[in-house]
Order: sequence, then C-alpha cells, then structure tokens
Amino acid sequence: MVADPLCWYIPGVSGSDRPILFVDVDGVISLFGFDLKGADGPQPPGPFHFIDGIPHCIGIDAGPRIERLQDAFDMVWATGWEEKANEYLPHLLGLPDLDLPVLRFDGRAVFGCAHWKIDVIDQYATGRAAAWIDDNLDDECRAWAAGRAEPTLLVQTAPEIGITDAQVDQLLAWAAEQAAA
Ligand SMILES: [Mg+2]
Repeated sequence: MVADPLCWYIPGVSGSDRPILFVDVDGVISLFGFDLKGADGPQPPGPFHFIDGIPHCIGIDAGPRIERLQDAFDMVWATGWEEKANEYLPHLLGLPDLDLPVLRFDGRAVFGCAHWKIDVIDQYATGRAAAWIDDNLDDECRAWAAGRAEPTLLVQTAPEIGITDAQVDQLLAWAAEQAAA
C-alpha cells in the first residue's frame, strides 16, 4: 500500500533547498535508436542488460554523469520505469547507494512523448526550483516550464546518446545560479 499519491517511494525528506532534478530513463540513461549496422559498424554506446526480458543499452558514461549531479540536486526518477528504476538502475549505473524518490504515473505513460508526466511533476515541484532531463520534451512541456513561477530548466537529450557531459555542466551551472540567488 502506497500512501503518497505522487511517489512509489520517498526516501527520508531531505529538507534541503537544492533544486529538484527530474530524471527520465529511456533516452537519458537507457539508450535506443543508435546505428549498429554491419559487423564493423559503430559499437553500441554502452553494455546491454536484460530487464524483465527486454534488452536495455545503459549508456557507458551515464553512471559517472548522474553521480556528478548528486550533490547539487534532489534527484527524482520521472520515468515510465517507475519503481523499477530504483530496483535496477543503481546497480547498473555503478551507484549502489543511489536511492531516489520515484514518481508514480498510474498508467499515464505513453511512449514517444513526455507531456503525460507534467501533472505529477508539477505537483511534486510546487514551490521548488526544478530541472527536468528527458528525451521527449515537447511544446506542452515547454509551455509548462515557461508558465512556472519557480526557476525551471528543461534539458533535452538525444535518445541514441543520452545524458552528456555538456548537459551535466549546464545543470550544475544552473544549480549554482539557484544557490546564489
Ligand atoms: Mg524518455
């Protein structure tokens, strides 16, 4: 029985004034859409792992990149993976102590877009500066961000590449700005 309507799981309330970072998984950490044609062609951008019988390519540098963000943000899984994110990803990312709140979407998930996350993200982010990294940000997401009273940053990934060092730098610079404000 889950008491909180927004989260599957809430670790201890941090009480921090760090910004929130909502983290998508597919297209950010688990990559797809890359070209693997031909035996001598490009290599996948990370190792494959089977999760519930489905192969997922976990970006080779995703773990260190997520780790760099840990001290600057209160990170929250915002993904159709829901509770499976904490079940599988800390181990696959090499971050066994990673233990994040997990937004629950109650069947809203639609592959190929992200606006179905907005209602839950909006409620969770109320009163807090918030960033959101996702491969499927669309006009509805951008309108939501523009309409928020609190500082808000959207970071769009390419699903075949996932989170990059440049995006981590961008997020850290933005978090530092919020801390200084
Ligand atoms: Mg995605």
